[in-house]
Amino acid sequence: MKTVIMAGGKGTRISSVARDIPKPMIPVEGIPILEREIECLRNQGFNDIIITVSHLGEMIIDYFGDGSGVSPATGKPYNVHIEYFFEEKPLGNAGALFHLKEKLTEDFLLLNADAIFDVDFNRFVQFHKKCAGLATLFVHPNSHPYDSGLLIVDKEGSVEKWLTKEEQRPTYYRNLVNAGLHVLSPEILDKKIDTEKIDLDRQLLKPLAGQGKLFTYESPEYVKDMGTPERYERVCEDFRKGIVREKNLQNKQKAIFLDRDGTINKYVGFLRKPEDFELLSGVEEAIKKINDSGYLVIVITNQPVVARGEVTIEQLTEIHNKMETLLGYKGAYVDGILYCPHHPHKGFKGEVEALKIACDCRKPKPGMLFRAAEKFNIDLTESWMIGDSKIDIEAGIFSGCRTALISENEKNFGQIIRGMDLLSVIDKIYGIS
Ligand SMILES: [Zn+2]
Repeated sequence: MKTVIMAGGKGTRISSVARDIPKPMIPVEGIPILEREIECLRNQGFNDIIITVSHLGEMIIDYFGDGSGVSPATGKPYNVHIEYFFEEKPLGNAGALFHLKEKLTEDFLLLNADAIFDVDFNRFVQFHKKCAGLATLFVHPNSHPYDSGLLIVDKEGSVEKWLTKEEQRPTYYRNLVNAGLHVLSPEILDKKIDTEKIDLDRQLLKPLAGQGKLFTYESPEYVKDMGTPERYERVCEDFRKGIVREKNLQNKQKAIFLDRDGTINKYVGFLRKPEDFELLSGVEEAIKKINDSGYLVIVITNQPVVARGEVTIEQLTEIHNKMETLLGYKGAYVDGILYCPHHPHKGFKGEVEALKIACDCRKPKPGMLFRAAEKFNIDLTESWMIGDSKIDIEAGIFSGCRTALISENEKNFGQIIRGMDLLSVIDKIYGIS
C-alpha cells in the first residue's frame, strides 16, 4: 500500500522553536519528526512513500533522497522508496493528490506530517477494509474538544455529521476529533473539482458525511499536533518517557478502569437523565493526570436501568456525552466506556425482556474488563480497577487487576489502596507504581 505524506505546511506558530527549517524536519530528541514517521511506517511494511513538499521542500529532498541512503541522524539506512511531489504554487492540502492520481490506483494512506504519531497502521487499514467506505479517518479524544472540529458518528463509526469548530454543536457531544491520518480510496479523486486550490476536509471528505461512505477509526494511540512551542515541549517529554512508542496498540497497554456512579459522578441512586449527572469534585484533574501518564482511562459501569426499561440506549448515550463534554472543558477525556445493560431478575413492569439475563458482564463478573482488554490489547496485571463498592473491587480482582476503593470509611474488600476520592486514589497509585 502506498503512503502519501503531506509535508508542505509552514507551521509559523512554531517558528520560535525552529525558524529556518520546514516543520516536518524539526527534531524530536535529535531525530526529525518526518524521519520518525517514516521509520514507524517502514517497520510495519509501508515502504512505498510519496512526500508532497512546498515551503523549504528542498531540505526534505536533500535529507531523505530516494530513501536508499543512510540517515545522518542515526547512521542507519532508511530502507524505503520515496518519491516527491513539489508544489510550485499552493494547491491546498489535497491539490497534489489530483496530480498524483495516476500513481494512486489502490487504497492509500494519507498522513499529515505536522503531527507526531506512532500507530499500528495495519490495524487501521484492516478496519478501513472491513467498513468498505471511500475514506476512514483516524479519530481520538483530545484535550480541547470545545474548540476543535467534531465528528458525530453512529454505532458502526459511520460519520453522520462533521462539525467544524465554528459550527453550532449539540449541548453534549462525544470527544471525537480528526487526527489527520486517513485511509482513502482512489475513487474520491474521481470527483470533479474546478478550484485551483483543493481543501481535503472541506471539499473531499466532509461531503461524504451522512452517506455511509465516511468512517471513523477510534484509537487511543499517540497522535499529537506540535503546532505551538508548548505542545512541542510536551511531545519531546512524552518521547523521553517512552509514552509515544508504548501507546502503539501493537504493544500491551496499561489501563485504569473506573466505575461511574459514585466514582466519577455523584451517586443519586438510579441515574436516569443527563440533568442528574454531576461530576464529583477533583474528577477532571484526576482523569487528566491519568491521561498524561500513558495509562488508558476506561469506564466500566453496570446500568441495569436499561434492562428495567427506565433508560434507553439513546438516553444512556446522552448521559455519557454529558460526561465527555464536562471532562473536555477541563482537558480530560476517557478512552472507552463499557456498560452492562443487563439485569438478572425477570418479571417487572416495563422491563426489556431480552436484557433480563444472567450475563457475564454485570460486575462483580469481570466480563467488561476482559472485553476491554481484548479491544485495547491491555495487560490486566499492569492495570487498576477503581470503584466505590465491593462489586468493583471483586470484578477487578477476578480479572487480575490491582484494585483501589473510594470510601470515606475504613472498609476492606481486598483492595490494595483506599482513598477518600478519585484524586487521592490516583495520587496514591502513582506513588507506588
Ligand atoms: Zn451484562
